[in-house]
Amino acid sequence: MKITDLTVTLFKWEGIPKGIAKRHTGAIGGDSQLGLLTLSTDEGVEGHAFLGSSGRSAEFDAGSLIRYLKPIVLGQNPLDRERLFEPMINIQRNTTMRAVGAVDVALWDLGGKIVGLPIHRLLGSYRDSIPAYVSSPRLASPEAYVAEATEYQAKGLRGYKIHPPAVDVREDIEVCTAVRKAVGHDYPLMLDSIWGYDYPQALEVGKAIQELGYYWYEDPLAGDDMLGYVKLKNHLDIPIMATEHSPGGFTAYAPWLVSQATDYLRGDVAVKGGITAVMKTAHLAEAFHMNYEIHHGGNSLNNIANLQATMAIKNTEYFEILLPGGAQKYGLIEEAEPDSDGMMHAIDEPGLGAKIDFELIQNRKTAVLS
Ligand SMILES: [Mg+2]
Repeated sequence: MKITDLTVTLFKWEGIPKGIAKRHTGAIGGDSQLGLLTLSTDEGVEGHAFLGSSGRSAEFDAGSLIRYLKPIVLGQNPLDRERLFEPMINIQRNTTMRAVGAVDVALWDLGGKIVGLPIHRLLGSYRDSIPAYVSSPRLASPEAYVAEATEYQAKGLRGYKIHPPAVDVREDIEVCTAVRKAVGHDYPLMLDSIWGYDYPQALEVGKAIQELGYYWYEDPLAGDDMLGYVKLKNHLDIPIMATEHSPGGFTAYAPWLVSQATDYLRGDVAVKGGITAVMKTAHLAEAFHMNYEIHHGGNSLNNIANLQATMAIKNTEYFEILLPGGAQKYGLIEEAEPDSDGMMHAIDEPGLGAKIDFELIQNRKTAVLS
C-alpha cells in the first residue's frame, strides 16, 4: 500500500466565544479556521487529522506542511510510521511541530483503519477509561472561578485546574483560596500559571497553594527557565509540572530529566509531534518513575488522538478538558465527552474512531491545499 495524496481542506470556524486575552496567546475568540488533513492511498483507505485551533488558524501551519512534509510521505507505505517520523522531525526547522503532529496523527488514523483496530489497540491498550478534569479559561474574578469550579464539581468532573489572571500574585492566591474553600478539602485542584511569574512570585504562589493542598503546580516559570525550575523544586513540596510548551520535541525532555527540573513530563499530539512523540515521551517518563500528563489538543480531533494515546499509557492519571467548550469543539458529528461520573471512555472504532462532520467541512470550505 502507498500514500497517493495529501491535502489540507481549510474550513471556517466562526462565532468562537470571546475570552480575556492571555499574554502567551493574545485575544481569544471570534473567527478561526481548521484544516482537515487527508491522506489518501492506492487502496482507497483514508487517514485524517485536524490542523489548527480556535486561537491558531490552520493556514499558519498548512502551507509549510504541504511544502515540506507532503513530499516525505508521498509514495511511502503508511504503516512505516517510525521511519517517516524521523525525516518529518528533522525538517521542522522549515515547518512546525503542529504540522508534524497532524501528519503523524493522520498516519495513525490510517494505520488503525488498515488493520481495523482503534489506535489504542494498535499501541497496546492499558485501560478503557480515565478520569477527566476541566481547565478554566482566564476569568474576571474569584467569584467567577468559584462558580465554574462548583458547577463542574457538581457535574461529576474529577478535578478543576485554574488558569489564573497572572497579573498580580495576590489576586491569584485569592482565586486559589476561594476555589479551595468552595470545593472542599478533598477535591483535586491544580494551578497552571502559564509561564506567568518570575522566581520570587512563583515561590510565593507555590507556598500558598501547597498550604491549600493543590495537586500540582504547572508552568509557573518561563518554559526555558530550567535553572529556575530546579531552584523552585528544591524549595517546594508540591509537585511541579513543566515541559508542556518547553522548546523542542521528544529529545528536548532529556535535560529536564537529568536536571531534575520537573516532577512530570507533559505534552500533547499537537505541540510535540503527534502520537508517535507522545508515546515515546510517556515511555521515557516511565523509566524515571514519573507520570506523563497529556495537555489538551486544541481541537476536537486532536483531543480524540490524545484520548486514544491515553488508553495505552500506564503512567498517566487524567484527561484534560479545556473550557469554554465552544472554543475547543468543532468539526465532529459527535464529540468525546466525559460520563456523569467524570470518566472519559475509550473509543473502539478503527483508527481515531471519530465521526468527522464532512458536510460541515464541505459547506464552510475556503481552500484545498495540495
Ligand atoms: Mg498548561
